[in-house]
Amino acid sequence: MPDPSTHYRGRFAPSPTGPLHLGSLIAALASFLDARHHAGAWLVRMEDLDPPREEPGAADAILNSLRCHGLHWDGDVLYQSTRATAYSTALARLDEEGLLFACDCSRAMLSTVGACAGDCRTRQGAISSSRAIRIAVPAECEIQFSDGLQRQQHTKLGNALQDFIVRRKDRLHAYQLAVVVDDAEQGITHVVRGSDLLDSTARQIFLQQVLSQSTPLYFHLPVITTGQGQKFSKQNLAPALDNEKAVYNLRCALRFLHQHEPPADIKSVDLLLAQAVEQWSPARVPVAMTIGADSIGLHL
Ligand code: GLU
Repeated sequence: MPDPSTHYRGRFAPSPTGPLHLGSLIAALASFLDARHHAGAWLVRMEDLDPPREEPGAADAILNSLRCHGLHWDGDVLYQSTRATAYSTALARLDEEGLLFACDCSRAMLSTVGACAGDCRTRQGAISSSRAIRIAVPAECEIQFSDGLQRQQHTKLGNALQDFIVRRKDRLHAYQLAVVVDDAEQGITHVVRGSDLLDSTARQIFLQQVLSQSTPLYFHLPVITTGQGQKFSKQNLAPALDNEKAVYNLRCALRFLHQHEPPADIKSVDLLLAQAVEQWSPARVPVAMTIGADSIGLHL
């Protein structure tokens, strides 16, 4: 019997800002393959935390695409839109520890390192405030972790990324807080995601430490970029995946991840994935922050 406290639990956590594109498929596939290769659980969390940025119907479209690509998750999808109470509880705990302060500094008023130049840190009663709420990061705070792909990371959080926002002025909970609360709720042990989130990881580890949560292992994948070197996104009109071409899309993603490609005569999603799970080799994933789509013969 595997020890449930150490048993692998991975996740894919899309934001429903648009349909699944090749960039998000690569992250979904890598986290799925790593989880299944380790006989682990693979969960999906819908990060519908920020209604102004969301596109109607995108959450369902993403889930449908995952199914069409054979990426079947365990249990129910966790929707962040249902989790406000848990985020408020975490905020209350941080407030009790005296770590929160209300801040209405404009970007221009923030010092070059991002910390408040004014006296916001001394303000009491952050939670009832109509201002943004920041967490006070001690000046000496340094976060170190060993990323499974990008190697040893060392961030002087107190200097570089001080006092980040945990609840926005519009009272929406911030991504950094929600991810940490939900990774703990879902018992996530392994986070495989794009390198565009590597920068966020030190902030998330800091929050895990102050909330007495364990830190998952992280593996930050190279992000696929267009011919102009831009990350795939809704803004640069990354094409939605054609669900009718799931086998082709999965083959593209496997090639991007430098994995062994299953033989060309495999035409079924399930057979393709079964082979890919068996042969998954994280050591083959290229160590890079970004890689152009042209590396796999796509010209976008
Ligand atoms: N929702 C985030 C995104 O779509 C990913 C969050 C994460 O994997 O931690 O970029």
